[in-house]
Amino acid sequence: MNAVRVPGSPCPCCGHVMNGCTGLTGAVEPKPGDLSICIRCAAPLKFGPELELERLTLEDLAQLPQDVVGVIVRARSAVIRANNSRGLH
Ligand SMILES: [Zn+2]
Repeated sequence: MNAVRVPGSPCPCCGHVMNGCTGLTGAVEPKPGDLSICIRCAAPLKFGPELELERLTLEDLAQLPQDVVGVIVRARSAVIRANNSRGLH
């Protein structure tokens, strides 16, 4: 998958600075309000007005369609599995 460059922004949960992202369907330019997941700690995130990363709140999650929540859960599992296999926690 191709990564898209985004303004460097730290994860609000673990502080890992991310300056690239990969869409689930390939290279997609993120826009404010899009969802993301921290590649380091797997926290569910969303892009803010300036594409800065914000923590996804329980209120945000409650408003998401069930299938979108399922995608987030599967993506988080994939990140956690990948990090475990690389010895990252
Ligand atoms: Zn993080």
